[in-house]
Amino acid sequence: MIKKLIMPFQIVLLKKRLCPACTHPLDKIGNREELRPNKVILQCKCKRRYILDQETNSYKRATFEEEKEFLNKKKQIG
Ligand SMILES: [Zn+2]
Repeated sequence: MIKKLIMPFQIVLLKKRLCPACTHPLDKIGNREELRPNKVILQCKCKRRYILDQETNSYKRATFEEEKEFLNKKKQIG
């Protein structure tokens, strides 16, 4: 019997609210923007982008579509 479920390292770090690439605390990232209601995109100092789902209060990697949306928003702002 497998006693412990081994999760991919990246998921473990995201659950701990740390950037899987550089282990920076995601809660401390100030570079964040609301993408949709209850969905915030943030960019880590290592340039990777994550989505904070405010309904579940959990982080995940931003998809390509979400990154594109974020970049389009940035362009509109200037
Ligand atoms: Zn990072």
